[in-house]
Amino acid sequence: MSAQENRVMALSEWEERWQTGRTGFHRPIVHKFLEKYLDKIVHGQKSIRFFFPLCGKAVEMKWLADMGHTVVGVEISEKGIKQFFEDQSLRYNEEPVPEIPGAKVFKSADGKISIYQCDLYKFSSSAIAGKFGGIWDRGAMVAINPCDRQKYAALLTSLMESDCRYLLDTVEYNPEQHKGPPFLVTEDVLKQLFEGACDIELLQSADGFEERHRAWGIDYLTEKVYLLTPKKQ
Ligand code: SAH
Repeated sequence: MSAQENRVMALSEWEERWQTGRTGFHRPIVHKFLEKYLDKIVHGQKSIRFFFPLCGKAVEMKWLADMGHTVVGVEISEKGIKQFFEDQSLRYNEEPVPEIPGAKVFKSADGKISIYQCDLYKFSSSAIAGKFGGIWDRGAMVAINPCDRQKYAALLTSLMESDCRYLLDTVEYNPEQHKGPPFLVTEDVLKQLFEGACDIELLQSADGFEERHRAWGIDYLTEKVYLLTPKKQ
């Protein structure tokens, strides 16, 4: 029984964070783990289709598109999505998504980056006609409500090509000291969630404690990055 099991954050609370500028989760530079392990995802292919669940305004989307990859993100906050295109000086178009009622898709003018504005759980491979060769999950698995983890893992699994490489960044700290998000996600939890579907390899574990974490009341934070690959059928 985890201290964080029953914590639920409503979509309106995320929107509220964007509206009031409480987006301390955003990082202005490319994440060191994505940079370091990118080759493991790309494994020699020229162009990969990347998925960014709960993308916020992650700068890595532009970084990958500049390398020739295509990126699909999902984010509930329109404000966050517009900030992404503005921060990156990218022109974009906005279209409705007939397959997902109420959703919109924001596409860069060159078509390389598409961000769906909708609840992640309304998203599916049929809506976006296809699956992904790569996934970058930072601030996503750890941001969703703990009660939604099974649903989240099933969705992500359904979006993976048979040779997909899913890079997953997690945090570990004392959950009695901070209610989250981000929530603590351990390797045991991942094993339960992806059992039967994916092989899980811990690539690296590093001290991720930053000054801003002091205000959360925690005294250590370990960042771990895993590589998930679909099990051979
Ligand atoms: N991955 C990004 C953002 C992390 S914060 C980064 O690393 O910077 C989590 C983001 O998910 C927030 O921007 C929030 O608005 C969005 N979000 C939370 N729940 C969501 C849901 N169910 N569907 C879509 N977006 C969601």
